[in-house]
Amino acid sequence: MKKKLIIFTDIGDTIIDEGTEVRNAESVVTHADCIPGARTTMLALHDSGYPIIMVADGLTASFRNMMKEHGLSHIFSAWIISEEVGEDKPSARMFESAMQALSLTEKDKHRIIMVGNNVKRDIRGASRFGIRSVLLDWSSRRSFEPECPDDVPTWRIHTPEELFPLAELIESQLEDEDD
Ligand SMILES: [Mg+2]
Repeated sequence: MKKKLIIFTDIGDTIIDEGTEVRNAESVVTHADCIPGARTTMLALHDSGYPIIMVADGLTASFRNMMKEHGLSHIFSAWIISEEVGEDKPSARMFESAMQALSLTEKDKHRIIMVGNNVKRDIRGASRFGIRSVLLDWSSRRSFEPECPDDVPTWRIHTPEELFPLAELIESQLEDEDD
């Protein structure tokens, strides 16, 4: 069954462990490991019918390589990548592009969550765009300290596995709203 909840997701330190990235001379990532539990969680979300849109800063070739390596290319309804959009998160253009890719409008915003590890990009960008956010604090590479109210996530999880039950909870709330 088609779900109401729409998942926008970051990649680096949200699905992929940035600490394992191997880059070529052009700075394209040619190999990287997934964060433990991330691959199975994303596949389970996809198999359950949640639309998943990549909203990521970096090079298209990097994401193509990494998703292919882990058999995750097929789970994304759209790939919104800063190299193509021309701006990094928290730019609204990244989120607008994701909305356009799925023909979503203002009234769909309450159905969208942005999942990411970077408070200044993922969380701030989501807040300013008017959608809810999930901070994954698995990686210790960046500070999670908010610099402004927009940096405070709607939810905070510690492992990728926690995203599945959270998605199910939000989905049930969205279904209740429509009854
Ligand atoms: Mg990231």
